[in-house]
Parts: sequence; C-alpha cells; structure tokens
Amino acid sequence: MSEHVWEQFRIGHGYDLHRLESPPPEGMGRPMIVGGVLLDHPTGPVGHSDGDVLYHAITDALLGALALPDIGQHFPDDDQRYKGEDSSVFLKEAVLLAREDGWVVANLDTTVILEKPRLSPHKEVIRNNIAQLLNIAHSRVNVKGKTHEGVDAVGQGLAIEAHAVALLVRVL
Ligand code: MG
Repeated sequence: MSEHVWEQFRIGHGYDLHRLESPPPEGMGRPMIVGGVLLDHPTGPVGHSDGDVLYHAITDALLGALALPDIGQHFPDDDQRYKGEDSSVFLKEAVLLAREDGWVVANLDTTVILEKPRLSPHKEVIRNNIAQLLNIAHSRVNVKGKTHEGVDAVGQGLAIEAHAVALLVRVL
C-alpha cells in the first residue's frame, strides 16, 4: 500500500439524463425505473437499456473515480446485447472493476431530478437496492429527490436527470 494519502482515495461524479416519452406506439418511453424501482407514471425514459437514470449516473461516478472510459464506451448503445438491459448489470460491472483494482465505495450521494412522480415514497427501497449492488451498508448511501420547479425540460416532465458522487477508498 502506498504511503501517499492521495493514493488512498478517489472521488467520482456521474450525471445522466433521459428524455421521457409515452410508451409505444405514441412514443418510445420505457416503463419508468429509477434505482431499480418501477414507478407508476404515464411516461418513461427513452433509452437503449432499461433507462435507469440513477443506476447510469452511479455507474459513471464509479467509472469516473477509476479514471476509466464512461458508461457509453463500456456498454455502447448500438450493442444489441444491452438492448433493454437491466441497468444493475452496468453498475455491478463498475463495482467489480473497482474491486479488482482494490477500491470499495466509502460513501455515495445521489440526487434524482424529476417533476413527477414523487420519489420520496421509494427512496428507502432505492437506497437498499444501491447498497446491495455496492455491497455496502445502506447508511453509506444517500438518495435525494428534487423537482425542477416547473422550468426547462425536466420541469415540464420531458426529461429525468440524476447526479451521483462517490468516494472510493483503497482496501488492497
Ligand atoms: Mg443513461
């Protein structure tokens, strides 16, 4: 283990946005899944995978902390293998890459921005889903929900966004 303190920690930020549309045939929206939870809503994310904006942001936070290529490079959206894929697969892969390189997530803070539906009734389930995928205590995972105050595309319900910040600590 290196004696340099900056070799013991890594921070990563992830951001994602998905357009929200009605399901086919009116639009291309998939069922709205956020943090592995299916939310009851008339529109949903457009995406090659299942469009889980939160899992995508967290995956990019981990890949970012590792200074690896982003989620779109690891899992290209023209690759038929990932069509409709459960996004926990991407997150698990990022956790595995971190682990193989000797890192675990010390803590993770996230924000989901969506106008509707309300995230608060689902936050604890989402936290637990993430903690399980990261294999850490749920007290080290935070999920915050915000609206966009009715302005811009997110505020008009046309898109959903997520941010994630992860601190990795070296264990090997
Ligand atoms: Mg995405």
